Amino acid sequence: MKSHGLLHRSLYALAGLIAIGICAAAVALLWIDRRATWHQAYVAASNLTEVLSADISRTIRVYDLSLQGVIDRLHEPGIQDAPRPMLQRLLFDRAASAEFLGTILILDRDGNVRYDSQSLDPPKVNFADRDFFQVHRDNPDVGMYISRPYLSRLRDGDESIGISRRLFNPDGSFAGVVTGSLRLAYFRDRFSGLSIGPKDIITIFRDDGTVIARTPYSSQDLGADIGQELDFQQFLIRRDGAFVGVLAPDGVNRLYTFDHVPGTPLVIDVAMAVEQVLEPWWRRAMLVIPITFALFASVMAQIVLYRRETRLRQEVESQLAKEAQTDGLTGIANRRTFDETLQREWLSAGREGQPLSLLFLDADRFKRYNDRYGHQEGDELLKILALTLRGKARRPRDLVARYGGEEFVALLPGTPQERAIEIAEAIRQAVAGLRAQHEDNEGGIATVSIGVATAIPQPGEASATLVEAADAAVYRAKEAGRNRVVAAGD
Ligand code: GH3
Ligand code: MG
Ligand code: MG
Repeated sequence: MKSHGLLHRSLYALAGLIAIGICAAAVALLWIDRRATWHQAYVAASNLTEVLSADISRTIRVYDLSLQGVIDRLHEPGIQDAPRPMLQRLLFDRAASAEFLGTILILDRDGNVRYDSQSLDPPKVNFADRDFFQVHRDNPDVGMYISRPYLSRLRDGDESIGISRRLFNPDGSFAGVVTGSLRLAYFRDRFSGLSIGPKDIITIFRDDGTVIARTPYSSQDLGADIGQELDFQQFLIRRDGAFVGVLAPDGVNRLYTFDHVPGTPLVIDVAMAVEQVLEPWWRRAMLVIPITFALFASVMAQIVLYRRETRLRQEVESQLAKEAQTDGLTGIANRRTFDETLQREWLSAGREGQPLSLLFLDADRFKRYNDRYGHQEGDELLKILALTLRGKARRPRDLVARYGGEEFVALLPGTPQERAIEIAEAIRQAVAGLRAQHEDNEGGIATVSIGVATAIPQPGEASATLVEAADAAVYRAKEAGRNRVVAAGD
């Protein structure tokens, strides 16, 4: 029974461990998967920024080289005296031309157009109000400047940015500006080639926070500030890698990656909606979580069911075992238990050289009791006799049993004969003291006769001799007039 319990407990522990293991494995799996998904998104964003930034950097550099070429040729001696068409060719022929590159203009110190790469007859337009003009006018050290977006005055309000350099007089003073326009359509064209989610945002801005281009495209963004404190922007831009946050007014949590466009004051920011980034992971998690939960629940349910079943079985088993050992009427041990115990105690007493005593108790004139008061009443008296007997043989190893009919035994290990006789006498007196009416017995009350036998078992001697001796003693007690104790050998 004990080892049974141990086995069950280790089984439960094992099942519990399996259940916990399943959950732990699922959590670990999801966690690793989430990290991998996150990493993938980060790599994708980084790749995107890198590709874009390389493309933009190249385009601007080519354009800037064109501007520098124009400046160099403008300073070549004598070029100003060349006839106009030749001058035009000399100045602009080697300048880059591509779909998104607009006009190259050379402005004088007042902002008026001196030369136009696309026209021999420059338009009478003044650009003194443009930021690129003012920046170069007021500061000789700007180098290449990328302007705020503007609506082109020469090309029907086409959205553009200007890439410009300052022109110097030989004495270093301001001589004007050479500027080329880059159509913002260029950025939109680049964006359209990228596969990004519907909530992802790519922003290209100057490092002062001015938005140059953004997708999804909105003309309201044109020249807008990206909406953060400059210091904070700088902090973000300087940060390596990526960060997650809610920065856009739409309240969407995004993964932001930043990259400088080399050789320019431009920054590319790819912001991916976290929700979208983790969407495939969520889909997998929604598959893994219920399965894990179902597994966990089924293991737990099996533990519970198994426990309940074994407990029930144990209860039934122990109940059966108890019933097999006890007498149905009186509730004390039955004959079978007595036989087994006698055998055991007989051997043990023999081994230890200890005396083993047996009381054999027989109700006096019990047949007549039944006859007068009925079998039912007889049963009640038997129960009372069993209780009385049990009350007098109380040592842990003492065994009180119903031997059969109206006969009871008390087995008293380690008890010498004199002590056994005392106990028998106490029992006899207790029964008589009940003063249970028995009109057909001597004295008119129920009494018992008790035979006492004691032995120190010898090798080869059978335990039956002890029973026979006690039985013989009872017989003698009956002979002698009942309601008495007789010890074997007296
Ligand atoms: P004695 O004093 O010589 O022992 O007389 P006695 O009548 O007790 O002896 P006997 O062995 O002749 O009768 C025993 C009676 O006990 C027979 C039976 O009716 C009764 N008896 C045996 N078992 C039970 C039982 O379980 N319930 C009841 N009510 N009576 C029982
Ligand atoms: Mg009898
Ligand atoms: Mg009897």
